[in-house]
Amino acid sequence: MNESEKIICPYCNAELNSDVKKCKFCGEWIVSDTDELPKDIRHFNWGAFLLNWIWGLMHRKYITLLYFPACIIPIIGPVAISIWFGLMGNRWAWKSRNWASVEEFNRVQKDYIFVWLILFLLGIIISVKVILLLLLITNINI
Ligand SMILES: [Zn+2]
Repeated sequence: MNESEKIICPYCNAELNSDVKKCKFCGEWIVSDTDELPKDIRHFNWGAFLLNWIWGLMHRKYITLLYFPACIIPIIGPVAISIWFGLMGNRWAWKSRNWASVEEFNRVQKDYIFVWLILFLLGIIISVKVILLLLLITNINI
C-alpha cells in the first residue's frame, strides 16, 4: 500500500491518509461504500428482522415504518420487508452512530434479539390472559 496516498474528507475537506476510517478533524466516518463495511458486521441483522419498526425507531431509521403499509399484503408483505430490514440492518445501524468498536456494535445488535424475545413472551402471556378473560365472560353469559 502506498502510504503517501491522500484523500480529501468529503465533510470538511481536510487532507487525510487514504487508510483512515474516520476523519480526525471533524469526526465523520469516511466509510460510505458498502464494500468498506467492516467484515465482521456483514451479516444478517436479526434484531432488525424481528423488531422491524421498533428497531428502526431505536436507530432513527424511519424507513422501517414502511412495515405498516407492507402489512396490506397479508403474510408476504411483512415477511418480505422484514427480510429486507435484516439484510440492510447492519449497514443502517453502523452508520446510525459512532460505534466504539465492531465488538460493541455486534453486542448491542445481539441485545435486540433478547428484547424481541421478551416482547414475544409478554405477547403470549397477554394473549393467554385475554383468551381466559373472554372465556370467563362467555361462561358468565351462559
Ligand atoms: Zn472531516
